[in-house]
Amino acid sequence: MRLTRILILASVLSFAYLASGFSEGAERVEWSMIRQDTVHEVNGDIRAGLPTVDVGIYFPDNLDEAFTNEYSLDILIRDFVDAKAIFEVAGVQLNLLWIKTGTIDPSFLEIQANTLNSTTPGGFYVNMYRDSVRQDSGLTREAGEAFDSIIEVDRDNHRTVYLVVLQSVFMSFYEQLDERTWEARNITTGGLSFPGYSYPDMPRRLRGAITVNKTYPVRSVVAHELGHKLMNVSHEYRDVDPQHEVRAEGGLMLYGSGTDILSGAEGRWHRERLHLSPFVYVESSDGARRWNPDYEEGGHYYDPIYGDKVVHFGPGNAD
Ligand SMILES: [Zn+2]
Repeated sequence: MRLTRILILASVLSFAYLASGFSEGAERVEWSMIRQDTVHEVNGDIRAGLPTVDVGIYFPDNLDEAFTNEYSLDILIRDFVDAKAIFEVAGVQLNLLWIKTGTIDPSFLEIQANTLNSTTPGGFYVNMYRDSVRQDSGLTREAGEAFDSIIEVDRDNHRTVYLVVLQSVFMSFYEQLDERTWEARNITTGGLSFPGYSYPDMPRRLRGAITVNKTYPVRSVVAHELGHKLMNVSHEYRDVDPQHEVRAEGGLMLYGSGTDILSGAEGRWHRERLHLSPFVYVESSDGARRWNPDYEEGGHYYDPIYGDKVVHFGPGNAD
């Protein structure tokens, strides 16, 4: 009986490992829990019966000193507490599962998130959200291996958010120069959320990954990246259609100090989309969890789970 159970568990784990699509090259990190008193304190206001998102923090112990002089675990915790307050206003509580530390493969400290090898500039005839379904995200093998190595196998992997501190995370995109010319650009990111609207092909087990490593250019990088992941929208606000970078005040999803998560079509359904996220559950007082339904089409912007909580707009040069 016991052996059977072990064999079943082993086969489930190996299936999950293979299903992630990155089964070679990366050893699993051994993590240890730290700062459990802090976790307890941060979660002091968590209540049963309210929409909740579980978040874990992976903070490697082999970050360079020059990096940790600028970005410490305390800064990340402060940013997380700030994010809690921002999402609380929108009716969702962020539950910090744990903070863990361990030694990651040093090659993962600096990763390229995507490549443009098999993608084209989009947006001629459909908007960026529709275009992203036609093109793969270009997620690099390296990024997939990094997350596969870092994120421990768990039954709820696909509906848990993981804040992963990596020192340098680059992403590529096309910038339109004139009517027929696009330039490939590669930028460093302060946070990257690998959201469903632009990474519909993200391995399901790893789809909760968010990298963070800076405290700008938004008030709270953690809250902003959680916004991408949980509302599943790009940089948009009211009548501002999604674009790569929008430096303006107003709204959690623009580059500024705004924190609004608005309701209704004029708020682009951000609050409603947040409450439809498959990462959200409600726990009753007896401990039973009722999770939101999963994405039906991989989590693109117009995934059927959102019903009419979407905005239809024309093509543009944004991505
Ligand atoms: Zn952003």
